[in-house]
Amino acid sequence: MSAQLEDQPVLENPVTSETQPVVEVKPLRKFTLFGRAVVNEKRIDKLSFDKLDWVNLSGICSLHILALGAFFVPFSWAAFSSSMVLWWLTGGLGICLCYHRLLTHRSFQTSKAMEYFLVIMGVLNWQGPPIRWVGGHRLHHKHSDTDDDPHTPYHGFTWAHVLWCFTKDECGRNARDAAKDLQRDKGLMFLDRWHSVPQFILAGILFAIGHFWQDMGLTWVVWGVGVRTIFVYHVTWFVNSASHTWGYRTFKTEDDSRNNWWVALVSFGEGWHNNHHAEQRSAAHGMRWWEVDMTWWTILAMEALGLATDVVRPKLARETIVVR
Ligand SMILES: [Zn+2]
Ligand SMILES: [Zn+2]
Repeated sequence: MSAQLEDQPVLENPVTSETQPVVEVKPLRKFTLFGRAVVNEKRIDKLSFDKLDWVNLSGICSLHILALGAFFVPFSWAAFSSSMVLWWLTGGLGICLCYHRLLTHRSFQTSKAMEYFLVIMGVLNWQGPPIRWVGGHRLHHKHSDTDDDPHTPYHGFTWAHVLWCFTKDECGRNARDAAKDLQRDKGLMFLDRWHSVPQFILAGILFAIGHFWQDMGLTWVVWGVGVRTIFVYHVTWFVNSASHTWGYRTFKTEDDSRNNWWVALVSFGEGWHNNHHAEQRSAAHGMRWWEVDMTWWTILAMEALGLATDVVRPKLARETIVVR
């Protein structure tokens, strides 16, 4: 147990990357959500008609409408259970473990076959091409909570949560350039190019299973694609919005990242975001025994099975947090 839980001082972070002054802008109070500005004057012009990314906007809205179908189609426990398994496979392994800890930060190594399998799990969430995802997240780390951050709550809570995804400028801005190392991998480039296809194949498989087993094809698609994908959307987005707004700070990083327990629980450990900003290459984000981090446990299990090597341990936490 940590000996410094209650009076844990905010710690200096010796591994801080290049930083810029934190932005201080006055929010537009007329649009608020949870008492916070939806978007402020720094970004509101990005939401004009000609600057919106209509493919992203219509895709995300369509999936929400598909998910709402859960209130209208017959319920099936089997379909619900399949969506829970897919939540872990696509959100837990695909986004948290693969896109974030493997591709973005190289917190561990694995075989190419395993990496491609995990990337396929990731693209099933329709969060755009994986190389752009990785580059966008690297830009977030490089410019955290400054004007150059693609998604900071300093530009509005809802902006950081979802609105930035609707804009051509922010969603695509320089992101691919920040992941040039991944562009040398031909297999990854192939999956990157065809990233939207596996979701259609999955929808077809789910419809077939549901139709021939329970005569409920649409129910299986609604739960396995609609509900599951938008749940993973909002969980991913809460890491950007809630984990830069609410929670405690173990490390004194230059940004405003927070450790947020409820985001950590639904995101397989990604909510320990202040820990992560302090030590970005660490495969573990939960750094105290009670900071539940299922993705870290999965990486440890992969290591034990010989599926993961060169796992990066959290040096900073070991040196500064007394754990026993
Ligand atoms: Zn990160
Ligand atoms: Zn962050």
